[in-house]
Amino acid sequence: SVRDPESLLVGLNPQQREAVLHSGGPLLIVAGAGSGKTRVLTHRIAHLLATRRARAGEILAITFTNKAAAEMRERVEALVGPPAKAMWVSTFHSACVRILRKEAKTLGLRSSFSIYDSADSLKLMTMVARELELDPKRYPPKALISKISALKDELVDPADFARTSGTAAGAGDEFDTVLAQAYDRYQARLRQAHALDFDDLIMTTVHLLQAFPAVAEHYRRRFRHVLVDEYQDTNHAQYMLVRELAGISAPAAPRPDGAGPSGARPDATGTDAAPPDATGTDAVAPGELTVVGDADQSIYAFRGATIRNIVEFEADYPNARTILLEQNYRSTQNILSAANAVISRNTGRKRKRLWTDSGAGPAIVGYVADNEHEEARFIAEEIDRLGDSDGVRPGDVAIFYRANAQSRALEEVLIRVGLPYKVVGGTRFYERREIKDAVAYLRAIANPDDDVNLRRILNVPKRGLGDRSEAMVNAFAERERLSFGAALARVDEVPGLGTRALTGLRAFDAMMNELRALAATGAGPAEVLGAVLDRTGYLAELRASDDPQDAARVENLSELHAVASEFEQSEPDGDLADFLERVSLVADSDQIPSDDDGDGAPKVDQGVVTLMTLHTAKGLEFPVVFLTGLEDGTFPHMRSMADETQLAEERRLAYVGLTRARERLYLSRAAVRTSWGMPNEFPASRFLDDLPEELMDWRRRESSMSVLRSGAGYGSGYGGSSYAGSGGSGQGQKKRPVPPSPDAPKLGSATPRPAGDVPSLAIGDKVTHDAYGLGTVVGVEGAGANSVAKIDFGSDGTKRLLLRYSPVTKL
Ligand code: ATP
Ligand code: MG
Repeated sequence: SVRDPESLLVGLNPQQREAVLHSGGPLLIVAGAGSGKTRVLTHRIAHLLATRRARAGEILAITFTNKAAAEMRERVEALVGPPAKAMWVSTFHSACVRILRKEAKTLGLRSSFSIYDSADSLKLMTMVARELELDPKRYPPKALISKISALKDELVDPADFARTSGTAAGAGDEFDTVLAQAYDRYQARLRQAHALDFDDLIMTTVHLLQAFPAVAEHYRRRFRHVLVDEYQDTNHAQYMLVRELAGISAPAAPRPDGAGPSGARPDATGTDAAPPDATGTDAVAPGELTVVGDADQSIYAFRGATIRNIVEFEADYPNARTILLEQNYRSTQNILSAANAVISRNTGRKRKRLWTDSGAGPAIVGYVADNEHEEARFIAEEIDRLGDSDGVRPGDVAIFYRANAQSRALEEVLIRVGLPYKVVGGTRFYERREIKDAVAYLRAIANPDDDVNLRRILNVPKRGLGDRSEAMVNAFAERERLSFGAALARVDEVPGLGTRALTGLRAFDAMMNELRALAATGAGPAEVLGAVLDRTGYLAELRASDDPQDAARVENLSELHAVASEFEQSEPDGDLADFLERVSLVADSDQIPSDDDGDGAPKVDQGVVTLMTLHTAKGLEFPVVFLTGLEDGTFPHMRSMADETQLAEERRLAYVGLTRARERLYLSRAAVRTSWGMPNEFPASRFLDDLPEELMDWRRRESSMSVLRSGAGYGSGYGGSSYAGSGGSGQGQKKRPVPPSPDAPKLGSATPRPAGDVPSLAIGDKVTHDAYGLGTVVGVEGAGANSVAKIDFGSDGTKRLLLRYSPVTKL
């Protein structure tokens, strides 16, 4: 069933063909998005097999995600059939796990070693910190773990670190001394447990190959062809792994820049151009290494990835061949031009000439929404319309966002209009841990006998109530035929509890009762939720962390708070139980459309809309792409706005996002997003400013709210607490404000008024508005600082106005 090799070259352009046919030294394929890099890899593998230059077992292909690996395997199998089964096509991590399970004995590990995820590692580090009697305020286990993770990305083990930080010799600063100790102890504990953490998988494999030449040789003989996709996102450990596996390893020499203490990168003059060490009697000739990547798509610097690996490939591998691909086969010219306009703002990059012959295509659609809900609504309506007018199926559509929390507003609208969707590479909103924890609190408050939820949160966040205490209370509850909650109220009668546990359980019960009392006084769900997050210390703990994942959790909780506020506004009479009912309905219907893999669901042939973060979108393509949240502060993300290096990475992320689209691209932003019950105004993303006008079809340029401050200049007068801090610096602040649309009236004041000054309006009230003149209130939502009025201004139409920002006076 092996194909005729010639047929595998059909349709490839000359550069692609050259890359498929290349043989010998290392090969680097660098090219912009959609130029067929991944396709060249698959065709190269198929061609190697079809010409019998390689057996399937001799091939190791590495991609960045499991999804990409599965796709690559499928494509090669489609080209050459079942013989391809013996290939290794996997991520770095799973390739390492496979090697380590085989070679565990050599390392004194059980082959059934455990792999610790980040929660396990943190637990272990917390234990270690306690053993070392470290002050958790000064040395938070999370901080230690993230430092250790970064060291492992650089292949620095505890001994290396002690040496290079000077702590081994009794020098080095205090933090490093503690870190060295903690690192050492942490590794020892992992070993005892026959466990490896995530970063160990790669570091340990590299060390294995370096320390045991016979093992290294075995794999070099086996993998005659090593191919790596998305090479721009490899970190130092992965770089070394590739080197070791391809057998192009170099004598351990310091890195030219002296950066990595254990970096065995050869200097640029390269001793590795010489033939392999002739003294080793059975040295293996180097295998063939093919790497493909695009420096403009490097988006994992925060995990230690370094563009250096691609930029200096030729220096690292002196006999390397480089092939450039310049024709883009994925996108229309309009989409390409937009992507080029954005990425060309980055400095210090190699210019690329990417072209396509697929025609200009439709203009890029721009949309400015009043808020995140309206943005979601626009997208849902547009998907529906495209279905009717162009036969676009839900499966053709992807919606991207910068941060996971943004999926919530989108998911809610998709559920409401019945568009099937899935969230890829992330957890659906209501399944996220922090959301489940927070909802569990609310449930345990609403129902003191809800044992499952009460027990879920008994020790969340950690308050020293371990499994033992829980088991004792539970035993007592069963004996006395009480619910767990009722047993807590009688905790003094529970036999066998130590004083610490007893105090802890009493305090927990008292806190829960106070929260219940708050709910009983008629506080709305948003207020109760706020109290829960505050009183339990849940939020404070997340905020204190420097783990980006915890920052995302804070954003998610803010979203849940927004859900609760919206509920209060739409159901003024609803209580906590009503809110929870609503949440469980949404969380449930969440499940229905998630299934796209063909087990009988009727929607299958239409596919489902794909929601994902920009990071997850790498390497994929869709006929229709919606890129949402294009606001300074959302994307580019707030955390990156003060730092040029991070901004450059955000820009590359934008480039990745834009270049996923094949035919239609939509760019949207919300003028106002709500977090913690506070509507924040966001200016347009600086990335939007880079787009040439002639590429754009602005369906709506201006939200009814941003009109209010047009001409006022950015960086001042925002109601938002979060945006205010970042104003003032960065190129984005210099940019022109979006010109008001011709019919937008000019207004003087843009500053929000103090919450106390927001007029309280009722239906039927007459008002004047600085721009729209006389109007009649026809609807009111919310109260106080968040109140929104629907006002009929006669010939100017009916407007929904956030009163805090609107120059409205009651007559
Ligand atoms: P990215 O940088 O986003 O990972 P890429 O360079 O890996 O992109 P591919 O995904 O391999 O690009 O290719 C983009 C699209 O162009 C795919 O749909 C692919 O099938 C198509 N394509 C690539 N080369 C050709 C060709 N010679 N003829 C026709 N279609 C092609
Ligand atoms: Mg690709």
